Amino acid sequence: MSIERVQTLVVGGGQAGLAMSYMLTKRGCPHLVLERSRIAERWRTERWDGLRFQFPNWSVRLPDFPFPHADPDGFATSSEIVDFISAFAAFIAAPIRCGVCVVALRRCDSGTGFVAETSDGSIEADNVVVATGPYQRPIIPSLLRDDADVVQVHASQYRNPDQLPSGAVLVVGSGASGAQITEELFRAGRRVYLSVGRHTRLPRRYRGRDLIWWVSAMGLDRIPAEERDPDRAKPLITGAFGGNTIDFRRFATEGVILLGRMQAARQGIVDFAPDLAKRLAYGDGAYTAFLDLVDTHVQRYALNIPEDASARGLWPDPPCLTEPLRQLDLRAARISTVVWATGYAYDFGWIHVPVLNARNEPVQRQGMTNVPGLYFLGLRWLSNFKSSLLSGIGEDAARLADHIATARTH
Ligand SMILES: Cc1cc2nc3c(=O)[nH]c(=O)nc-3n(C[C@H](O)[C@H](O)[C@H](O)COP(=O)(O)OP(=O)(O)OC[C@H]3O[C@@H](n4cnc5c(N)ncnc54)[C@H](O)[C@@H]3O)c2cc1C
Repeated sequence: MSIERVQTLVVGGGQAGLAMSYMLTKRGCPHLVLERSRIAERWRTERWDGLRFQFPNWSVRLPDFPFPHADPDGFATSSEIVDFISAFAAFIAAPIRCGVCVVALRRCDSGTGFVAETSDGSIEADNVVVATGPYQRPIIPSLLRDDADVVQVHASQYRNPDQLPSGAVLVVGSGASGAQITEELFRAGRRVYLSVGRHTRLPRRYRGRDLIWWVSAMGLDRIPAEERDPDRAKPLITGAFGGNTIDFRRFATEGVILLGRMQAARQGIVDFAPDLAKRLAYGDGAYTAFLDLVDTHVQRYALNIPEDASARGLWPDPPCLTEPLRQLDLRAARISTVVWATGYAYDFGWIHVPVLNARNEPVQRQGMTNVPGLYFLGLRWLSNFKSSLLSGIGEDAARLADHIATARTH
């Protein structure tokens, strides 16, 4: 049986796989993109209806392909992002095959090149670029057993408030997903309990400019991975409801009940750590540090940008902070649903090439591995802050395409 051969195989048809395809095309490198489902599948089926892109429209772009919008300061919906990525695939005439899953990747017996076993036969390739996403497998802690009579959904399965049975909701996790889902449920009239973990909240706007404007102006998005802050918490921002600064004290003042980290549960009784004040103080510290950074930058470059003293005001301590709940009886609190906004793990079990460490994370530098011809793209902090973000993917894709094109000519 003849085996299909391509020079470069790109696995994944999201923004990363497509940006890679474009960069390879520009360098005249033949390739094929395989997508197990549809283009931009995760934006179609793993995001909730009310999610808004976290970056303002003016900042959204793919290589040579700006985002069409009517409001530069608005925040796109998921379906607008799907349309945008699909339009990019058409613009670059990507050689993509949808509905084909790579189920195993091995080195060829000859020692050079790879063989990908797919749901539609085997393909041999000199190079493989793995672009299967930074957020692959939902993490659901095994804290609540079946004896808790509640519906459990991960943030990737949450769609909208109406999807959940009536009653109160416990949201576990205070990253961007947890905070946004909490706000959405609360605005929809639900009683919401939020278990807060470590977080890095940042101002949506400061001194009249969006956070992303400042991040770019100060070069924070160009900090290389090697100089990454050891605090690995992701920035906590939102584009929902017009885009506002997430402040858990405000949430609590409005009626959300804040809790410390979820620690244990038995028969529907859940214990929370006595760490809520510490978590909020940490988030406030990150927020204030960012304002300080901006102020220093404005001063250093003598920028004529008005001050914004109101940004430094903190909401008062809410009762759930001064007298924190340490235990919650889900049934007594009429909690019908637990939303796990507890993040994602990698899922590289299909890669049978020695490039993964003991935690199944790729060992790579700027996307290059120790196995010639095998690359990763789109991972968080692959080369810098922007590596897993839509507007940052082009630079990493260009670097890998240069490497592939150069290796080809030698
Ligand atoms: C809730 C949430 C909100 C986010 N919001 C933003 C935001 O506002 N702005 C921003 O810039 N970023 C955001 N991100 C981060 C990032 O932009 C997205 O995760 C984005 O989807 C990453 O694109 P990607 O192409 O790298 O990966 P993905 O979009 O995950 O694409 C990978 C593709 O690979 C396919 N695939 C996987 N395994 C295989 C296989 N074995 N064979 C074939 N195909 C396979 C998948 O079906 C998928 O289509 C968000 C992430 C999450 C989770």
